[in-house]
Amino acid sequence: MLLMSKPVILTGLRANNDLHIGNYLGALLPMVDMAHKHAGEYQINLFVPDLHSFTTPIDHSQLQNQILQNIKVFAAAGLDIANDNIHIYRQSYVPAHSELAWILDCFAGFGEVSRMTQFKDKSAKLGDDRISVGLFNYPVLMAADILLYDATYVPVGDDQTQHLEFTRDIAGRMNAKFGELFVVPKPVKEQHEFFGKDQGLRIRDLIDPTKKMSKSDETGRGVIFLSDSLEDAKKKIMGATTDSLGKVNYDYDQQPGVSNLLDILKLLGGNSDEFIGLEQYGPLKTAVAEKVASFLTAFQSNLAGVNEQQLIAKLESSESVMNEQANKTLYKVQQAVGLRPKA
Ligand code: ATP
Ligand code: MG
Repeated sequence: MLLMSKPVILTGLRANNDLHIGNYLGALLPMVDMAHKHAGEYQINLFVPDLHSFTTPIDHSQLQNQILQNIKVFAAAGLDIANDNIHIYRQSYVPAHSELAWILDCFAGFGEVSRMTQFKDKSAKLGDDRISVGLFNYPVLMAADILLYDATYVPVGDDQTQHLEFTRDIAGRMNAKFGELFVVPKPVKEQHEFFGKDQGLRIRDLIDPTKKMSKSDETGRGVIFLSDSLEDAKKKIMGATTDSLGKVNYDYDQQPGVSNLLDILKLLGGNSDEFIGLEQYGPLKTAVAEKVASFLTAFQSNLAGVNEQQLIAKLESSESVMNEQANKTLYKVQQAVGLRPKA
């Protein structure tokens, strides 16, 4: 029996304060487009995974502010807050997430959770005394996030595919033991087919176009941050590394810098075709600089104009609906494991 009336697409909204145009074009915008494309036929669950945010050490004095900032960034990127088919909620405001995670913990194998490569990677970077049980438990909480809502589609990057497989495994195991408790999310391959995932899109660093733009770059000279001033952004584009071939071609092997500029222009809605074949790079750089500047102007003004009151009202109304849905699933599970009387 399906509890939710429409199939559910679920994804976490993780953003932080140093977003760059790579994050925007490669992650934020596709997520907003996805939500708009499928809302109606599907129920869209977008949540801020606030309980996941301190599985590694953070500055807790910033967390409240960052949670709200996360959602504001998506609103500024055009996410339709008024759409009733799109639910936006904070994980910790739906206590069933933590409760189901505990129950699932008792059916998750220590061995299988120990095999998660994200845990191995992240814990390798922390000292032994800083590796928390929460970090180890991360995939179990993620399974609860998904299974509470019968979510079938969950867009996952490479770093999360193992967690999705784990979710499928534990859901299948619980179903085999207790009867049909959970809807098992679709396998990774079908997820990618459904979302038409363009794994390839990676905006490159402007100074070293052989590597991707990344917020942890030390100098930030090759990175356009969403908070950059227009002057800085333009300077970075005009100073972008190109090559000595002297002709504009879209060819990442031979001309990664130029190809990256063409992609940025196109993704921001410009016409990149008109520059192909040109025997100088200046006009392309100028066009990209202008496009980036007008994009930043619009984004920054959207961000400043986000109505916080309206956003919080949206969160509260979504959280009330989500609590209702999640509690139904949790109750079924509690009955199955013997914590509540069977009907
Ligand atoms: P870090 O250097 O800390 O890894 P990052 O700049 O790579 O930061 P993440 O927080 O790792 O950013 O990624 C957030 C999202 O943005 C992910 O979905 C990731 O795939 C996407 N993303 C990151 N960098 C790029 C990029 N250069 N082009 C397109 N998408 C990107
Ligand atoms: Mg990264």
